[in-house]
Amino acid sequence: ESREVAQSIVEALEVLRATASEHQEYFGKLDAVAGDGDHGQGMAFGTRGAAEAARAALDKGAGARTVLLHAGDAWAEEAGGTSGALWGAALTAAGSVFDDARGTTPDDVVRALLTGTDAIRRLGGAEPGDKTMVDAIVPFREALETEFQASSDAAESTGRAAAVAREAADATADITARLGRSRVLGEKSVGTPDPGAISFSLLMAALADHFGA
Ligand code: ADP
Ligand code: MG
Ligand code: MG
Repeated sequence: ESREVAQSIVEALEVLRATASEHQEYFGKLDAVAGDGDHGQGMAFGTRGAAEAARAALDKGAGARTVLLHAGDAWAEEAGGTSGALWGAALTAAGSVFDDARGTTPDDVVRALLTGTDAIRRLGGAEPGDKTMVDAIVPFREALETEFQASSDAAESTGRAAAVAREAADATADITARLGRSRVLGEKSVGTPDPGAISFSLLMAALADHFGA
């Protein structure tokens, strides 16, 4: 049973990999406006590393928790950069919700998403309004909790929360970046949404689509 969970996690990471690769150029262009332009590459390399490490761990018989631990390490290592470190930590934290020896419930899946996104907030130290992926993550997790309480459907709730995250990510275009960039570059970013917020919302939407179909 836990093997099935681990298998689904590998599948989820393949979805993230395909989505990051599909939008690689777009993420890079967003990051080039006020950052260093490497967000497309970071997400493509990170998701590829994570999916490959997860697959390798699964092939060696690992359960859900261990698969996510290896995936998180690989994401951080392959992506490099701030977002890679944060996504890697999120995967590892999400893995702590699972137990290698048992199966899972829709409740665990939602809890894993909440735990993973909390890790990004905690480790990155960004607050809403700093123009980072946290601006998408905070409304995402709020919507996810509310939707899941109402429907008990993890994929459907994630899909609705991803739509909320996308709106919030688009709205970051109006903010001047304060974190991780110089003030001058921050001002250049007005009119362009935060790359990490956009990529987060697109990845969550793809996950929901895949598992909700
Ligand atoms: P780097 O900034 O190292 O080049 P990326 O380009 O891959 O890494 O990622 C940039 C994204 O990382 C930003 O758009 C933002 O969403 C996110 N980010 C940067 N710093 C933080 C932070 N402290 N907390 C949360 N997210 C952050
Ligand atoms: Mg960058
Ligand atoms: Mg960089």
